[in-house]
Amino acid sequence: MQHPHHTDQHAGLQKYFPTKLPKFRLRYAVFSLLALSILLILVGEPREDAAAQEDAALQQAAFGDSKRSRMATDRAAQEFSAIETAAGHPASKSLTGLLKPLSGLVETEEGDEIAEAVRLSEEERALPKAELPTPLKKPYLHLTEEEIVTATGDSLREKRVTVASGDTLGTILNRGGIPSGDVHNISVALQNVYDPRRDLRVGQQLSLYFDGDDFKALDIQKNLLTSVHVAALPDGRFGVTETETPTQTILAAARGTINSSLYKAALDEDVPDSVILELIRVYSWAVDFQRDIREGDGFEIMYRLTVTEDGRTVPGAAEVVYANLQLRGRDMAVYRFKDSEDDIGYYEEDGRSVRKALMRTPIDGARLSSGFGMRHHPILGYSRMHRGVDFAAPTGTPIYAAGDGRITYIGRNSGYGNYIRIRHHSGLETAYAHMSRFKGGLKNGSRVRQGEVIGYVGATGQATGPHLHYEVHVNGQQVNPQTVKMQEGKKLAGKDLEIFRGMVAQLRAQYVSLIDQKAVRTAAAH
Ligand SMILES: [Zn+2]
Repeated sequence: MQHPHHTDQHAGLQKYFPTKLPKFRLRYAVFSLLALSILLILVGEPREDAAAQEDAALQQAAFGDSKRSRMATDRAAQEFSAIETAAGHPASKSLTGLLKPLSGLVETEEGDEIAEAVRLSEEERALPKAELPTPLKKPYLHLTEEEIVTATGDSLREKRVTVASGDTLGTILNRGGIPSGDVHNISVALQNVYDPRRDLRVGQQLSLYFDGDDFKALDIQKNLLTSVHVAALPDGRFGVTETETPTQTILAAARGTINSSLYKAALDEDVPDSVILELIRVYSWAVDFQRDIREGDGFEIMYRLTVTEDGRTVPGAAEVVYANLQLRGRDMAVYRFKDSEDDIGYYEEDGRSVRKALMRTPIDGARLSSGFGMRHHPILGYSRMHRGVDFAAPTGTPIYAAGDGRITYIGRNSGYGNYIRIRHHSGLETAYAHMSRFKGGLKNGSRVRQGEVIGYVGATGQATGPHLHYEVHVNGQQVNPQTVKMQEGKKLAGKDLEIFRGMVAQLRAQYVSLIDQKAVRTAAAH
């Protein structure tokens, strides 16, 4: 096979490697191959005389496609097997991740496509070995994706098989044309890294790779971030390994007008669910979402997301870094900040924590069903003072401790049903009634943190339906939880405040820039 011209090689590589860091990946590939060659020589049986020849052959195997290189490839793989046997446990970490972009032929169930194979340039092959670190003498080898490309060749045919309802790994592999004996061995090879009963999903595609009719490798995307690779070794066994998809953290921004709810408005601007929930949690100290938000109010948000190379969001890794609720024209901006004690919190522009001594609403998504004050009692039939507020919510909805403190009562309490009372600092106490059940492990004297789940909504005691009856006591007096002046939380000072102020300016600038970019993109799309 002839060696393509330099410039063509680079064009070819650009085509197959992601636009990010192609040089790094190339160097890594070359480094890995050279390191592998050296390792094979150092770790293998004494045969110094053959070393140079072997090295050259391996390089040829990596980049060429001659008979000689194929022999060298087989020799290399036998070498792995020998080492594995000596070590007494599986050693070959075979990876085929790069087979996809590098493979010669792709055959889907729908049809065939032909793709070019990738070649490295003369320069890239001729990297001086002196620059490589001295490999350690080890009884086994970690193979990289690139090394597996070397070991399995670079002109494999890919066949994609789609998982159907009722499939087992066996039926899928059989359908893919893998002999039954191999199917069994592949299953055994996979048993420590992949559980088909848990990890196989209907509609998912598995990639099988063949050299002629010989099965060479298998790629399975196990979950969002992990893929599993199996490679056939020349001695009939299989090497297996897992790889993690690279991710990166990005900043995103959105703004909008609230017409029905903040949740809906943010969702309309493509803010991920988890980010919106975080946003609501951040503001839960300052805003009563039932009463304070009006139609036409606005929001701004900037958040950090972790995404895979192909743009999928990694769940659970999002965080709000800046937000601003514009309620009746008044800005309520908050910024995420990690202080000198590594505590992470949200602060207003002047450095005051949004987190107050007590949460205003110790429950998520509940509807205020009865306020504080005189009312006609639905069960007792006469008017009396309602010294708390009621939040209607489905049975089982979690109830949070409104602030840090200690439980002073937990148990049945006549008309209050299942009841918890918490003593906080500065003469504050809160009480929670009608719970269906308590959170396990809590007892009198238990310490609780603000926002910690203490129990679940129910209708125990005198209650017409499931709701949380919530009370706030200040120095023994029952007060209206909705109007009581909340005690301030932490305030940044000194060096922390100085750093915070610098960060605020920076976050504002980043937000404005992201929104501008978005506006440009939107304009271009129209
Ligand atoms: Zn009540």
